[in-house]
Amino acid sequence: MNQYEIPDPFQTFVSKKYAKYKGAIYDFFAKEWSYKCGCCGKLLYAPTKKTITTTRLYHTRNVCLNGY
Ligand SMILES: [Zn+2]
Repeated sequence: MNQYEIPDPFQTFVSKKYAKYKGAIYDFFAKEWSYKCGCCGKLLYAPTKKTITTTRLYHTRNVCLNGY
């Protein structure tokens, strides 16, 4: 996934493109995704958009819902 070596323009594009992606935000400085939990307000981090979903589901189920 290193085919995009162009610095600022592309990263700005990505940032804007996913700015409203279901609360998940791409941090192009840290190169990771963050998601603020709508339940407890905790910030979650994941390296890819795919993992943020998994991380979010795991967090919701095991932390917010206390393993329910
Ligand atoms: Zn939570």
